[in-house]
This record gives sequence, structure tokens and C-alpha cells, in this order.
Amino acid sequence: MAERKNITIMGAGLVGSLLSLYLAKRGHKVDIYERRPDMRKTLLDGGRSINLALSDRGFRALRGIGIEEAVRQVAIPMHGRMMHDEQGNLTFQPYGKEGQAIYSVSRAGLNAALMDLSEPNPNITYRFNRQLLDLDLHRNKATLRNHESGKQEELATELLFGADGAFSMVRNAMQKTERYNYSQSYLEYGYKELTIPPAEGGGWLLEKHALHIWPRGNYMMIALPNLDGSFTCTLFFPYEGPLSFESIKTDDDLLNFFLQTFPDAVPLMPNLAEDYFSNPIGSLVTVKCFPWSFEDKALLIGDASHAVVPFYGQGMNAGFEDITVLDQMLENFDGDWEQLFKKFERKRKPDADAIADLAVMNFIEMRDKVADPRFLLRKKIEAKINQQYPDKWIPLYSMVTFTDLPYSYALETGRLQDAIMKKVMKHIRTVEDYDKPEVQKLLEKQLVEKEKLRGYSPQEV
Ligand code: FAD
Repeated sequence: MAERKNITIMGAGLVGSLLSLYLAKRGHKVDIYERRPDMRKTLLDGGRSINLALSDRGFRALRGIGIEEAVRQVAIPMHGRMMHDEQGNLTFQPYGKEGQAIYSVSRAGLNAALMDLSEPNPNITYRFNRQLLDLDLHRNKATLRNHESGKQEELATELLFGADGAFSMVRNAMQKTERYNYSQSYLEYGYKELTIPPAEGGGWLLEKHALHIWPRGNYMMIALPNLDGSFTCTLFFPYEGPLSFESIKTDDDLLNFFLQTFPDAVPLMPNLAEDYFSNPIGSLVTVKCFPWSFEDKALLIGDASHAVVPFYGQGMNAGFEDITVLDQMLENFDGDWEQLFKKFERKRKPDADAIADLAVMNFIEMRDKVADPRFLLRKKIEAKINQQYPDKWIPLYSMVTFTDLPYSYALETGRLQDAIMKKVMKHIRTVEDYDKPEVQKLLEKQLVEKEKLRGYSPQEV
């Protein structure tokens, strides 16, 4: 058993709160500092109900501390995408095989549940209203603002985890060290959260077990169900241009735009103008950096080391998977934290980069391709290939969402499969064409080629 440490976690978001439980389980003493007040006592985000899609990688990390089932109970399975076209026609496309789903959970609810679980642990102490202002990594010295007293406090850290999100101050301190790699890139799109309230008398106004998408080529709106019968909608929209956040200035502009673009949603959104003009526009950033650690003193985790855009629904899932991977490494740990951090960042960095790229690619798929009948046909053909060759072919979306195959493996295999699909689809007009001998022959040949290129199958990863 390695030496017990006094560990500081900066940030009590989803990743920081879960990490505290894993570290305390291994006998460490954890102090967790959070800039905001205790979310369980104070209404944050104006009380809006904001949700997230939780999938297999996230559930696996929750299983490790025994709360997978409890979270499933308060989550809503979404078995596929429900596409809404401009006439209000609906098309359903399953995400995976029967029984597979991603789960809509309340962000605040999940965060509060993790806090409730960790706070009674004598090895975990939460310190709210403490904001990291500055960090001297060489001397293990953190400067915090205490928002209760209004004063600054100095804190000596022994071992520090930076779980302070996309705009991490811990990372900021690392950026000042030598030869530090850092990049951030913003999409030219922002997002705004809107609401579809519950039906009168209770219940959901749209299909409850689906993630709804209004794909409109250049932009889109999505909606995820909440337990109370409402849906949280997110409009992803350009910042500037003829149709953009900038161009919609009045209630009339907004209503005209919505009536034309999302006509079936308008009657379901009585608070549209109020929501639209009072909710902020969120930005969409990808952050990449390296290394993630500093000596044996500090390690970044979650969004602090790899913030991604939300179009694969994987940001939190990837952060939770960081914890699973770290915990596996702690299993046979010899006490050398510097080596552990190095091993961890080397293992996770290619996967973090891969999900960052996949997430940007999926934006195009969601806002544009899902409305294309050829794309939907292709998805059906892929499902057939998967059914016929379950060991040789898992669709990219399924690899990312329903397995724990490394994201980098999924990205690379997805590229090979994409090239094959392009060839196969040249011979396909309808689903029935799949059974034609020439298609089957082509596919068989391509699968052999693919195995040669990959050199190993998913089972060996
Ligand atoms: P955060 O959740 O950002 O938590 C960081 C914490 O640190 C916060 O509590 C913050 O207050 C605190 N903090 C920050 N700075 C300081 C400081 N200086 N001092 C002290 N404390 C500090 N992911 C999914 O898996 N599925 C989804 O469907 C999904 N949808 C998304 C939709 C949108 C619109 C967005 C923007 C993101 C979405 N994500 C999704 C991504 C997900 O929200 C993040 O990946 C996840 O929240 C990362 O968790 P974290 O704990 O690393 O960071």
C-alpha cells in the first residue's frame, strides 16, 4: 500500500467530486476546493434544468463506487435520435442495437448526488466559495479567494489535482512552465438553452425516450428529456452572419425565425422569447495541452486537460473515464507519483485528442447529415454489417458510446470503416441491395483488407 497523501482537488464539478470518492477509497485524505457556493443550498444557473447524456464510459466509473444503478434510476434512456424536419415530420434512428441507449441526467442532480455521497466520508472535506487565484507549482503554494470573508488565503498543497474545468487555473500555472504546449480553439457557433415545459397535467410533450434533433444544415436545435416532463433544448447557432445570434434582435425576429425553421417546436415553447433573451450564449471550445502533470506535485483531469465540444455527448464521460484509468493504475502503484502521472498522461492524451476531433466531426453529422436520406440508409446498412460481422465491425458511434475501446482506436477504425462504406454504398439504393452477391463479395474483401491494415481486432485492445 502506497503512502497516504493529503490531496487537494481544485474544482468540485462532476469530475472533481467523483475523483474525491476514488481517492478516499484508496485511503487518501482529500480536501476539495470549489469557487462556487454549495450547489445543494444555492440555486445556480437561475434554477434552469440542464441535462447531459451519460453513456457507458461514464456509467463504468460510477459502477466503481457503487452508484451506477442509483443514477440509472433517475436518468431517462434515449434509444435514438428523433429528427424533426421543416414540415414537422419525424424520423427515428436508433443509436445502437436493441436495448442500447444513452441516458439523460440532470447535471446539477448528478453533481449534488456525488457531493452527498462523498461529504459524509471522514476523509473528504468540501470547501466551498474558495477560488484559486494563483498557484506556485514549484513551491506547492496556492492563493485562494475566500468569497465568504472576501479575503485571500494561502494554501500549502502536497499533491494537487486540477479538476477546475475548461478554464482551469491549475493549467494556467502549468502554462507558465517551460516548453508547455497549449491550444484552444473556438467554434464560430455558440449555444443557448431553451425549454419545453411539461404537458399540462404532467407528462412529456415529445417522445420521452429520444434525443430530439432539428437539423438545419448550418445550425441545429436539440432537446433532451428531464424527469419532470420538461425538455432542455439547446440551439447551436452562428455568432455572426445573416442568420445568427447577432441577427435576431427582437421578439418578432425570433418568432419569425422559429416559425419558419422549427415550426413544430414553437407551440411547445411558451417561454421562448423570455428564455432566448434572458439566457446567456455559451461558447464552444476545444482545449488541448501537454503535459498534464507537473513533477510529482500536480495533475490535470477532466475538462482542465481536455475540454471538447459537446456534439458526441462525451466530455463528462471522458472525464469520468480518466478516473477509471487512473484508478486502474493506482491498483499496482509503487508510490512514485511522478511516474504515475507521466504514465497516465501518455496513455490518455491520444484518446483525449481523438474524442476532441470526433466531437467536432459529429457536429457536421448532427446538424447536416442526419437529415439526408442517403445517410440514414447508410446507417441501416452499417447496422446490418454489424449484425452479420459483430466481431469485425462496430459502427463508430457505438464504439465511442457503448464500449470502452480507446477513443483513438475508435477514431482510426472509424476512418477505415468510412472508406469501406463509401465503396459499399456505391452499390446500394435500398436496404434490400445489401444481400446482393456483389455487395457481399465486396464487403468480405474489404473486411479482410481492414483487418490487415488494423493489425489487431477490438478484442485485443
Ligand atoms: P466542470 O464541470 O467545468 O467543473 C469544474 C469545477 O471547477 C466547477 O465546479 C467550477 O466552478 C470549479 N472551478 C473552476 N475554476 C475554479 C477555480 N479557479 N477555483 C476553484 N474552483 C474552480 N458531456 C457529456 O458527457 N455528455 C453531454 O451530453 C454533454 N453535454 C454538454 C453540453 C454543453 C452545452 C456543454 C458546454 C458541455 C457538455 N458536456 C457533456 C461536457 C461536460 O459538461 C464537461 O465535460 C464536464 O462538465 C467536465 O467536468 P469537469 O468536472 O472536468 O469540469
